[in-house]
Amino acid sequence: MTDRLTIAIQKSGRLSKESMALLNACGVKFSVNEARLIAHSTSHPIDLLRVRDDDIPGLVMDGVVDLGLVGENVLEEARLERIATDSVAAYQPLRGLEFGQCRLSLAVPRESQYQSLQDLDGLRVATTYPQLLKRYLKDNGVNARTVMLTGSVEVAPRAGLAEAICDLVSTGATLEANGLVEKDVIFRSQAQLIQRADSLSEEKQAMIDQLLPRIDGVQMARE
Ligand code: ATP
Ligand code: ZN
Repeated sequence: MTDRLTIAIQKSGRLSKESMALLNACGVKFSVNEARLIAHSTSHPIDLLRVRDDDIPGLVMDGVVDLGLVGENVLEEARLERIATDSVAAYQPLRGLEFGQCRLSLAVPRESQYQSLQDLDGLRVATTYPQLLKRYLKDNGVNARTVMLTGSVEVAPRAGLAEAICDLVSTGATLEANGLVEKDVIFRSQAQLIQRADSLSEEKQAMIDQLLPRIDGVQMARE
């Protein structure tokens, strides 16, 4: 048993730099060896676990790590997936973070006749987020099929795999480049700091309680 606080962050991707920068700004120093899964803090009894973002919700929900920094899109998708499969899906939301902003949107080919969501009835929608998409379709009474793809979602219509897509958008440039038009935002997301649901040792909890006001301070200063 270690009494070091473990924090899961994305190893390399859109959230990595800002996750590290936030911790650094809070006074938690690290020297990261790119080849290593774990980075030990040089200033605090804290270890960083550097993993794929998709693994972060599960690591926190299973209590394998204490904290996680992850996009709400990935977090909510994982939570719904776990509920659907009767797995533990609990966590404590700590802070919404001011980075990783994006939206999960429905988009269709430019030449599509699409006018309203109901037009998707009987059609196929490609996505990496089947749970979020299914919930949205169900809430809106639309009977579309979801086609699960872990990547290259934006080429699915051209490849004849689907009539529409549901994918992450930030500027819209990728959609545009693929001849797609954004029609409907189904989920808005930013990065979030989460904690495992079960209680921690006094020492670990004290460290988190010290970290949170620092995060608030850093975010306030950036506004
Ligand atoms: P990993 O290898 O860790 O699985 P990934 O390819 O799934 O990486 P990234 O593309 O690095 O993930 O995106 C990580 C997160 O960044 C997304 O889940 C989302 O929360 C956020 N994000 C912000 N803007 C965008 C965007 N334009 N496209 C995709 N993700 C974005
Ligand atoms: Zn991922």
